[in-house]
Amino acid sequence: MEQLCLLKKTNKMTINKKLIEEVVTELVGEEALEIVFYLRGKNKISEFIVAEELDLEIHRTRNLLYRLYEHNIVHFLRKKDKIKGWYICYWDFNEKIIPEIALKIKLKQIEKLNERLEKEQTNTFYMCKNACARMIFDQAIEHNFKCLECGEIMHEQDNKRTIEFLTERLKELSNSKK
Ligand SMILES: [Zn+2]
Repeated sequence: MEQLCLLKKTNKMTINKKLIEEVVTELVGEEALEIVFYLRGKNKISEFIVAEELDLEIHRTRNLLYRLYEHNIVHFLRKKDKIKGWYICYWDFNEKIIPEIALKIKLKQIEKLNERLEKEQTNTFYMCKNACARMIFDQAIEHNFKCLECGEIMHEQDNKRTIEFLTERLKELSNSKK
């Protein structure tokens, strides 16, 4: 149900610089941003041109392009160079896929937060007063309620604030447009 509702939201997502940055940074890394923005709005650019224009080494350029390709963020067309006789890849930024990927990232974040929230809600946590360790009851009893780091006795911890924080974060994520 929730997934369906979120899926409808992709249509409303605007592809802007910020959304592209978020997706690329999350999946490939900040270092790939300049390539993506260089390709944006252009058509079938040879990897040699990309490397030259951005003053990057060709191996590094290819490496980043293939990493982007693994996530379907860029596409390529391989063509034989008639003069030189070797193959050259021509690249395109697959801009229209960005909202879909952004949504997948978000759904994964929501799933992780839900798991964490469930763990917080269904367990009793123990923590040492120096805050070096925090564990659930089953683990704490295994260690006789003694902290592995400093040897202090661990006490039951009220995790109301953690639950509140996670619930709030989940609400924010589910309501945000992107
Ligand atoms: Zn401790």
